[in-house]
Amino acid sequence: MDYREQMKELRDTLNRHGYRYYVLDDPEISDYEYDHMLRQLEDLEREHPEEVTPDSPTQRIGGKILTQFEPVEHAVPLESLQDVFSSGEVAEFGVHMEEQLSRVEYSVEPKVDGLSVALEYRDGVFVRGATRGDGSVGEDVTENLRTVRSIPMTLPEKLPRLIVRGEVYMSHKVFEELNAMRELKGEALFANPRNAAAGSLRQLNSKIAAQRRLDIQIFNLQLCEGQTFATHEETLSYLASQNFKVIPHRVVETIEECQAEIAALNDRRAEFPFDMDGAVVKLNNLIDRDILGSTAKSPRWAIAYKYPPEQKPSKVLDIVVQVGRTGVLTPKAVVEPVRLAGTTVTNASLHNQDYITEKDIRIGDTVIVQKAGEIIPEIVSVDLSKRPEGTTPYHLPETCPVCGAPVFRDEEGAAVRCTGAECPAQLLRNLMHFVSRDAMDIDGIGPAVLQQMIDADLVRSAADLYSLREEDVAKLERMGKKSAANAIAAIKRSKGNDLSRLLYALGIRQVGAKAGKVLASHFRSFDALAQASLEELTEIPDIGPITARFVLDWLESSQSRHLIERLRDAGVNMDCLEKQINSDFEGMTFVLTGSLTRFTRQEAGKMIEARGGKAASSVSKKTTYVVAGDNAGSKLQKAEELGIPVLTEDDFLEML
Ligand code: AMP
Repeated sequence: MDYREQMKELRDTLNRHGYRYYVLDDPEISDYEYDHMLRQLEDLEREHPEEVTPDSPTQRIGGKILTQFEPVEHAVPLESLQDVFSSGEVAEFGVHMEEQLSRVEYSVEPKVDGLSVALEYRDGVFVRGATRGDGSVGEDVTENLRTVRSIPMTLPEKLPRLIVRGEVYMSHKVFEELNAMRELKGEALFANPRNAAAGSLRQLNSKIAAQRRLDIQIFNLQLCEGQTFATHEETLSYLASQNFKVIPHRVVETIEECQAEIAALNDRRAEFPFDMDGAVVKLNNLIDRDILGSTAKSPRWAIAYKYPPEQKPSKVLDIVVQVGRTGVLTPKAVVEPVRLAGTTVTNASLHNQDYITEKDIRIGDTVIVQKAGEIIPEIVSVDLSKRPEGTTPYHLPETCPVCGAPVFRDEEGAAVRCTGAECPAQLLRNLMHFVSRDAMDIDGIGPAVLQQMIDADLVRSAADLYSLREEDVAKLERMGKKSAANAIAAIKRSKGNDLSRLLYALGIRQVGAKAGKVLASHFRSFDALAQASLEELTEIPDIGPITARFVLDWLESSQSRHLIERLRDAGVNMDCLEKQINSDFEGMTFVLTGSLTRFTRQEAGKMIEARGGKAASSVSKKTTYVVAGDNAGSKLQKAEELGIPVLTEDDFLEML
């Protein structure tokens, strides 16, 4: 077969299977087979780049980086909907419709809580996608929409022009995975799938948008040249036949049936992969829609019924504390099971200590539980009249429930964190940090491999990395002999790293890569650092009193000491390797004051340290010399009082 034919066949087959997977949710082949074919196509496209077509599945991974989004004028406005909040208002809408029309049919659909977009096709090819904006003018997000796998790039029927409207969303599953990954990386979490979808759709770099695995539900045919339809239902069937993922809908004849369907959708909420913030009731007949028209903002032929957040009473059976991967202690209420928005709720989020204190939530309390937009239910209020006797206010534990290490409260924010250097709950995150580029720089073991090592109980602490055996690593998924050998070699190499890297890798609070370097070059060995007093630490330029305190706390903890001993036994270097020029200044402490002309104080400090001396910031009896530049003030005076020799900049240079 000619390579062109082969490429076309691969494209068609992949697109067909992509459709089955992403739109129908009913794959016919395994991910492995799909990836294999995709790889074949990628290889051919690399050899024949001129043959890459816009509908190739390889074009879905993004890549274009924009500087801004261009405005797009919508051919048909993207209207909003009139909201109603009660069953009574739904009935009123029905009366209103029946008064004006001889025969009425309604379509009832979930209201997807995402972002509205318009997709335009010319001659069956996707040419442009835009956000809603103000309804008349939106933003061109074509590149990002190309990465949404359930949006067809070409249509079976090549009508001259077709515009559809749909709601882009992030599925619950993807949302949870994304947030879990962000938590690991220490990035800010998205509050809900809608925010996550909004942030993703407005990425200027479509590669990032592609990674967010957005999805879409198409709910309207906006414009169509070359085909006519009588009802909304017909348009949706047509769109389904054109490979669009079409919103679930039910056509009914009476408003009572609409009400029943609204309730049924609410009960089925948990079945849908998207967040639903209501149900939409619209007229099915398209001519009737035209007759009724729109007000300034919304069509007269549809309403959006907004579900109230469902609330139910329950009882707090217990409060349990989980330790997240970043060490944050999160309290959770275990409640008596209640049915809420289609799922059985057995626990509710308590967020943090402040939240518990503010609402004074206690074990044994009767509470009102609510499931609003967010997935995890929360406690709205406490019914004090039902509080049993003998309860006490709840306080988070002072030690980590997983590893027993003391906890501390973040200076800013309400989070309480565990301090354990070997806390199992934080193991993955700690290991990721330990191996990262600026830390121990161990190449070839990413988060997925580390997770497998933890699951296989090969590592329980960073020190265990050093006793890993190649054959065990080779058995892990996606590893193999060669990559295992490389990983082991990288681990071994890291033993010879400078102390500065180790200090950063240990994950001591506030000790970043820079502080690691400062501490390493000042103390020259881990043992010297371990002996340091608070005073000594605070005297080091660039080390503030808070960091100094954290360093000492860390050094004092038994888990930290255990970790250090094991690293030392494994042969990890604990010394500063940065060259010390000589040790002429060994045992001497210098204080720099006034303005120096040839170097900054920091540079002078470095030169002193490189010769084994120390640079301190205040004058005491222990000071060996004071180096005074112009306009030296109180430090010079103090030196004179204590009889400490004073050097000019020139004297100092000479000594160097
Ligand atoms: P609102 O923004 O609250 O006025 O609600 C109107 C929005 O609901 C529209 O802009 C659509 O983006 C969205 N929507 C979600 N699902 C549907 C649906 N099935 N039919 C119509 N609009 C929907």
